[in-house]
This record gives sequence, structure tokens and C-alpha cells, in this order.
Amino acid sequence: MKLAILAGTRPDIIKLSPIIKECEGRGISYILIYSNQHYSSSLSTIFFEELSIPKPHHIIDYQGSKSSTYVSDLKQDIKEILKDKDFDYVLVHGDTDTALAGAMSAYEMDLKIAHIEAGLRSFDLNMVEEKNRMIIGHFSDLHFAVTGIQTKNLKDEGISSEKIFEVGNTIYDAVLDYIDLARSSSTIKVNLEVEDGEYYLFTSHRGFNVDNKTDLEETINLIGAIPGRVCWPIHPRTSRRIKDYNLELSENIVAMEPLGYLDFLKLLEGAKSVITDSGGVQEEAYILKTPCITMRESTERPETLYSEANVLVGRDIGKLHENLDRDIKSWSSPFGEGDTAKKIIEILSSCIKTA
Ligand code: UDP
Repeated sequence: MKLAILAGTRPDIIKLSPIIKECEGRGISYILIYSNQHYSSSLSTIFFEELSIPKPHHIIDYQGSKSSTYVSDLKQDIKEILKDKDFDYVLVHGDTDTALAGAMSAYEMDLKIAHIEAGLRSFDLNMVEEKNRMIIGHFSDLHFAVTGIQTKNLKDEGISSEKIFEVGNTIYDAVLDYIDLARSSSTIKVNLEVEDGEYYLFTSHRGFNVDNKTDLEETINLIGAIPGRVCWPIHPRTSRRIKDYNLELSENIVAMEPLGYLDFLKLLEGAKSVITDSGGVQEEAYILKTPCITMRESTERPETLYSEANVLVGRDIGKLHENLDRDIKSWSSPFGEGDTAKKIIEILSSCIKTA
């Protein structure tokens, strides 16, 4: 079996790490193509090191702001890397521009596409990620869905059931792989002088919360009004805006550079609750049993809403405050058993054998 694996962002590296380890462990031939979509080493290099996965075989790095031709530029570069090589599958993950460009490139080159984290839908087409997910879904030959919810979404869009495999989510594999190391090696709570259950964690990088001055100022005020310390590893996109708009953070906010994965997991596990607009953080909060408050009107991860492990509050300060100190009522994993990567590799291998 010969695979081409595409990653573009921090969550792609984290969520593909169990797949890469599975390939390494089984001696499967693969190349990893990484696009450094956020142009930031704090969101890339550290993850390859911390997660102990080999450096990408190919890095596509434009080192600048996103141009209007970004996806087509990526396509051109991806096609150059894929050409003349006989890949059985091109693996794309999630909903990034890189996954979109990868799926389109593979399609145009008549290569088979497998989509990991397939079928997630927020039903909010204002989110570019939703459009990407839908387009990738229609290019893909195999769909690795998380639960029955994604299977239904895909079937409702006309995808035939024999192409869909419910395998869980590799994020569960990744959290199980790294949480013990995070617990034993990260000194982040000592460094920040915070104690378990006595601080909140905040992350935000979605356009609707940070991309214009009024919205970002409101976001900062919402977090500033939380009665307690809020640790905020600030995404580079958000940092840039805070600087551009000359905004000040209130005293309860403990601002910091983006964290590595081990520090982030440790801080997430100890937080009283996490306030976020991230996709991956909603899942990890659920896995670590940290109550999650999502500053969005919709989520493509509805399984996290069950048992009130996660609540959607948008930008409603009343709802945000009401939910700050709640407990999770019950818990069972919607993300599989921590063997999702193994299942994906075995399914790919059997699909190749029967092709
Ligand atoms: N994360 C991290 N350090 C941070 C903030 C987040 O390692 O300072 C990890 C987090 O554990 C999760 C992923 O980054 O796995 C989420 O990335 P992000 O919010 O950028 O993207 P999204 O999931 O929304 O696509």
C-alpha cells in the first residue's frame, strides 16, 4: 500500500499523528505533505517534535498572507508532488483549504481519495469549513465518518453507504496517546501559577469572533467579564488583529503565545471549563471531561452537546456566565475506542486488496 497524506494545520498534524504512527509501525509506504497553512512555526514545528512523528516529506510554504489564488496555487504544488507516483490513496483530513486542494488535485489526477473526519456538518454555509467539507465529500471515494450522525449526513447528500465507514475519531487516539506524557512532563500550570479547577481556558480564531474590530472587542469584553482567571493561548490570526486594532486585554486574562500540544492538554484537563470557537477543542474537552462553552451558533460536532458536555452560547454573555461552572452529567465516548487509526489503515488495505 502506498499513501499520500495531506496536512495543513495544527489540528491536522495532531489528528493525523495516529495514522502516521500506524504507517510507521506497519512499514507502510507513505509521504506526508504539509502546507503550513497558518504560516506560523508555533502552529507547526513544535507539533512534529512533541508528537514524535517524522518531519513531512514535502513542505509547501508560501510564508505570507493568503492570496485569492491560494487553493489553486496549492493544487498546482500538490499535483507536482503527486505526479508520476503510484499512490493507492490520497488521504485528506477535515475541512481545511489544504484538504480541499488535495482532494481536487487527486481527483484531477485520477487518484483515489479517502476523507478522514468525513460527514461533519454544521449546516452553516457562512463557515468556509462547511463548504470545504461538503465539496471534499463529493470528491472522495472513501469516507471515514465518526459516528452514525456523519453517516446520515453523507447519505442525505447522496453518498452511497458502501463507501462510508464509521470508525470514530483519531482525536481520541491522539489524546490517549499523549495525555499521560502531558500529565507527567508539562509544567504549564506551575509556570502560570494556576491550580486545577481554579481557572478557565479560552481559545478563539474563527473569523466571526475575531476578524473585525467590533466583534473582537466584544469577544475580549465577554472574556474580560468572566469572574476568574482566564488563560488564553492566542492564535496568530487573533494576535495580529488585537495588534492591528490596538485592543487591550483586561486583568483577569492571562495571555500567552500558542501552546504546544502537551501544555495545551494539561491546561485543558485542569480547567474549570473551556470557552472556545475551535472544532478540535470541543472534542478534546469532551474526552477530558472538561465542560465546554462554544462561542458559536452551530457545531459540526453535535455529539459533544449530549449530556451538556458542550453548550453553544454564541456571543450571549448571559448564557456564557450561566454555563461557566456547570458539571457534565454523564459521559460515554462517541469517538470510538482509541483505535480509529488502526481501523482506517486496515480498511484502506482491504479496499486496495479487493479493488
Ligand atoms: N491547540 C494547541 N495549542 C493551543 C491551542 C490549541 O495545541 O495553544 C490544539 C488543540 O489541542 C486542538 C487543536 O489545537 O487539538 C485545535 O486547533 P484549532 O483550534 O487551531 O483548529 P480547529 O480545531 O478549530 O480547526
